[in-house]
Amino acid sequence: MRETLFTPSDNTIIDAELMERWLGNSKIHSLNPKTLYDIQLLLSHYKDIIVPMTNVKVEYPTEGFDTACASVDKGIIYIPTYTLNEGKIDDTIGLVIHELNHIKLSEKESTLIKISGGFVMKILDSIFIKRDDDDSKYDSIKETLFANGFNFQNIIDSNTSNASEQYFSECLKGVMLLLNSVEDVRIDHLCAPNMKKYIDKLDVNGSKNFIPYYEKGELDENKLMNIVYRLLYHHKGFIKDDYIDTHFGELPFILKSTPKEYIPIVFGAFQKEIEDYCKSLFQDTNLNPVDNASTMDSFIQQISEKSAEEAFEKSLGEEKQFCSDNFSDDMFEESEFDKTNDKVAKSETTYSQEVEEGSRLLVVPRSMKASIDIFNNVDVVDCHENFNGSEVTAYKTLLIG
Ligand SMILES: [Zn+2]
Repeated sequence: MRETLFTPSDNTIIDAELMERWLGNSKIHSLNPKTLYDIQLLLSHYKDIIVPMTNVKVEYPTEGFDTACASVDKGIIYIPTYTLNEGKIDDTIGLVIHELNHIKLSEKESTLIKISGGFVMKILDSIFIKRDDDDSKYDSIKETLFANGFNFQNIIDSNTSNASEQYFSECLKGVMLLLNSVEDVRIDHLCAPNMKKYIDKLDVNGSKNFIPYYEKGELDENKLMNIVYRLLYHHKGFIKDDYIDTHFGELPFILKSTPKEYIPIVFGAFQKEIEDYCKSLFQDTNLNPVDNASTMDSFIQQISEKSAEEAFEKSLGEEKQFCSDNFSDDMFEESEFDKTNDKVAKSETTYSQEVEEGSRLLVVPRSMKASIDIFNNVDVVDCHENFNGSEVTAYKTLLIG
């Protein structure tokens, strides 16, 4: 991935009302190294409050680092330089507080992948595609994936190796965005009040982008990507969406549940949208049920599909039980899907594209990073000296260690 540099300019309008209060109302005029240092310091302080005892670092993404792998699992939170570059200091702080609350309150990403994977596979097992070689025979998408080669571990490791895994991984992405929306509502509501003010400001700013799209009706269609954003802004109080309200409208339930308690309810509420989402993505693939030319091939095929299925179940690990307890076969109604005729609406929306594009990390040049780090070694020391025997003069000095 090509790196794009963080390049604050002197003309950047600084929005840092809340942070300035923390600095005793001293005004921030530019994103100079001292300001960047102060931001990092404030965030490290909040980190100690939200997740004391955990080994998490809050850092600037710097040149040469693999920012694509910015990760909670690795214990690094990168300061979102895309908002910072625009001078939105308070929003940047809000985003980091939000990530810290994820670490404190959310399920591990690997757990969510497995649970969502178990659910998506059940859905794909209920969608049937007609075979090219024999009009009277249908294979489920699940069988089609297994027949074309499928290893769930590659998806967990973000290392997809073929069209089946690529497709499944796209399905998972949508489902996990939905869960993330619910989780964002939960953790932001539960955020401590002194830090929540940053989150609230961030939400107000975000809603300014969202509401015009919503009001123009661009997110009206009940498809997964639209639901993801409507759910978020409905439960944050910026819109009143009747569909969300009737399908998943209980905010108190979200707030008192753990992710594992609400996940089956969320999946049940939007199962239709998830199914359509999986179908819409399938339209774009060239995956087809595998032709079985001879009985012998068919026999071998069956054995390899069976072992692929066993491998999948095994890779669900501890979550296998959760999946079989919560996603029972009678939840899923079988349907036929002809990807050339039964068109379902495209998965993406213009709004979701804009959100994704706007949130790429910009890397901080090494030289700038060095200038920020200097402040780590600076101490402000109160000095008292008695110059003429009667009066004590107090002054502050800087010590660079
Ligand atoms: Zn989040």
